[in-house]
Parts: sequence; C-alpha cells; structure tokens
Amino acid sequence: MIIKNFKTIEINDRIKTSVTIKSNNYDEEELWFTMSKKYANYICKTKLDGFLVGMLYPAMRFGEDIYVDGCVSEKLLFNLNNYAIPLLLSFSKSLNNIKISSKTTIENNSKGEGIGTGFSAGVDSFCTLYDRYILEDSPSFKVNSLLFFNVGSHGDWLQHGSSEFTRCKFETRHIELKKFADEINLDLIDIDSNLHFFHHWWHSYSHSLKAASVVLLLQQHYSKYYYSSAGLNYYGTLSYSKFYKNKDIGAYCDPILLPLLSTESLDFISDGCAYTRSEKLLHILNYEPAGRYLNVCIDHVDRWKNCSGCDKCLRTLLTLDITGNLNKFDKIFDFKIYEEKREFYIISQMLKVDYDPFAADNINLAKSLGIRLPSIKYARFRQRLRDVSNIPILIYRKILKTI
Ligand SMILES: [Zn+2]
Repeated sequence: MIIKNFKTIEINDRIKTSVTIKSNNYDEEELWFTMSKKYANYICKTKLDGFLVGMLYPAMRFGEDIYVDGCVSEKLLFNLNNYAIPLLLSFSKSLNNIKISSKTTIENNSKGEGIGTGFSAGVDSFCTLYDRYILEDSPSFKVNSLLFFNVGSHGDWLQHGSSEFTRCKFETRHIELKKFADEINLDLIDIDSNLHFFHHWWHSYSHSLKAASVVLLLQQHYSKYYYSSAGLNYYGTLSYSKFYKNKDIGAYCDPILLPLLSTESLDFISDGCAYTRSEKLLHILNYEPAGRYLNVCIDHVDRWKNCSGCDKCLRTLLTLDITGNLNKFDKIFDFKIYEEKREFYIISQMLKVDYDPFAADNINLAKSLGIRLPSIKYARFRQRLRDVSNIPILIYRKILKTI
C-alpha cells in the first residue's frame, strides 16, 4: 500500500485535505477529510501521520506493507512498527504482520495549544467533558475544544454501503451537539470523511485508530487529546479483554494502544478508566445539562432521540432506575417503553453477568443497594419460557425462507 499525493483544497466554506491510496485491494482511491475553513490552520501539512494511522487496520487486514510517500513522525513510526502492530496482531487473527516505511521522518517537538476530546453526548464523552472541562482547573489539561467525526460511528460499511445514511445521521447529530457546545462556549469542530469506507468491517474493530487518524491530521493545533474509555474501568479492562478479542479494539486495549499513537507534539490520553459505566453515569448526574442532552441510543435511525428500548438505552435506564434517578432524565427517555421491557431486560442481564461487564456492573450495583432481584433459577426459567414462545415465529420464518 502506498500513501501519496497529499493535497489541500478549498470547497466553498470547507477545506478538504486528501491523499491517494494505492493498494492491491483498492487500486487507486482518494482518502479525504473536510472541515470548516475556519480551522484550516489546524491541519498538519508537514506529516502524513493521520492518513497512515487511518489506513493501518486495512493494510494489516490485507497483509500489505505501507510506504508513505512523504514525511511521518519518527516516534509514531517507531511505535507502530515495534509495538502497535504486535498489539493489534494479538487483537485479531484476521490481521497480518506488516512493515511501515516512509520517504522521510521528522522529530518535531513544537506543540500546539489545542486540548481536545470527541463529543457525542454519550455517557463516556459526557464524563470526560465533565472531568476535563467543567471540573478541571489546570489550563495545561483543561479541554478547550470539542471534536465530532464522521468516520464510522454513524453507520459503517457493513450496515450501509453508501455514504448517504451516515452523512444524514452525522449532520442531524451535529446540529443538536452544536447547541450544547454553544451553551458551554466551546467550539465543536465537525470533520467529515470517507475513511470508514476503506474499513470493510464493523466500526468497533478499529474505532480508536479511526478517531486518532483525524486528531493526528490536526496535530498542528492539538497537543493533547482525551479519548473516552469504552465504559470499563482498569480492572474491567484487564479482566474482560479476552471477551473483546476480534470485537472491540477499544475495550480490548485502548489504555495500551492510544499512547502508542502519540507523536512528539501530540499526546493521546485514554480517559475515564477510573470509573465503570454506572459510576460514570452517577458522576454526571451532578451536571445538569446531561439530563437534557444525554444521547446513548444505538437504534439505527437517522434522528436525534433516545429510543428507550435498545440495549444501550435500557442499560442506562436500569442504572437510573436502580439508583432512584429516573426523574432526572424524564425529558429524554420514554419510561413507558422502558416499563414494558424492564423485566426481561433485568433477566437477560442476570444471565450475562459472567461475561458481560456492563451487565455485571448494573446487577452488582443493584445487589450493593439491597435491591431484590429474581433468583437465577427463576431468570433461567423465564428466559426459557420466552425462547419457547419464540419457536413458532422461528418455524414460520424458516418456512418463508424455503418458499
Ligand atoms: Zn435506544
């Protein structure tokens, strides 16, 4: 794989920066990122680090060495070849060992003043914002702008072969997030891209690399970037990592991977591993805007609303329910939907405690508060009853398939 032809052009009020990717699998394709012209000075024009990190996962998947026809950070190149690639090899058997080289390297220590974090209004990003902006006093560590990317979290290649759905969801969410950013006087920089269309796999396989790619692109400005943890604390990360092998790169190894993507001028920091997901949610209860803007939903609809019935909505509602805090979120959830699903959701979580840290988190929280839960025997019985009642539907579906 060759990364070449770096260029930057203006298109109306946006600036587009791109390279050509030459690969045995893509032939020649343009990889691009766009953002408001206002932030043109943030773009790093001396190093192609962002494009390199963005293409690392596809290159390893295809078993193609990478040659960067330009300059990259000496530190990044060293860390990728010696540490990050072996770490990624331990994540998935589908990845291949590759070697990265570049035309030149640079060791540049000049640091920008930007301290950023991604913001999607989920529990993890709200917790980082609360700690590193609202509560943080030191100007050297206090967040001074927010970023919002379109690199796969709004629908990935597997779900949506075209970019229309993802862009629509990205733009809808950006409008809502911008209202909040304006309220707290922070810039929210939206960056659109086609990076996720080079990643023909689930977004969770490479999300940390894709996000880091964008920030590296802007390292002329950013010297620190907080990447919110996936909702596991340090103990959970160490205990459950084997369950996330070949599933979620962040839950598998973010606290190890992210520092390896740092350069001489930009530090990546994995933020939030001091908390479990429920601890984060209870922490941000102290921050009033969370009750108006929290958005945890993974329902695949191109609108800004918590559906109150998907796994992430139910997980959040259960924590609030257990701790008696539902009323603080009555503007953004539909409690009727939750009530209908509540019993089976609790049962499903009880049966997943041994291998799902988020289920364990809520169930252990309920137990610690002395909340009575059904017995495991009853939970298994109810689950089996539900499975049995689903049998006619399954048979019906099978018949339909054979016709
Ligand atoms: Zn939902």
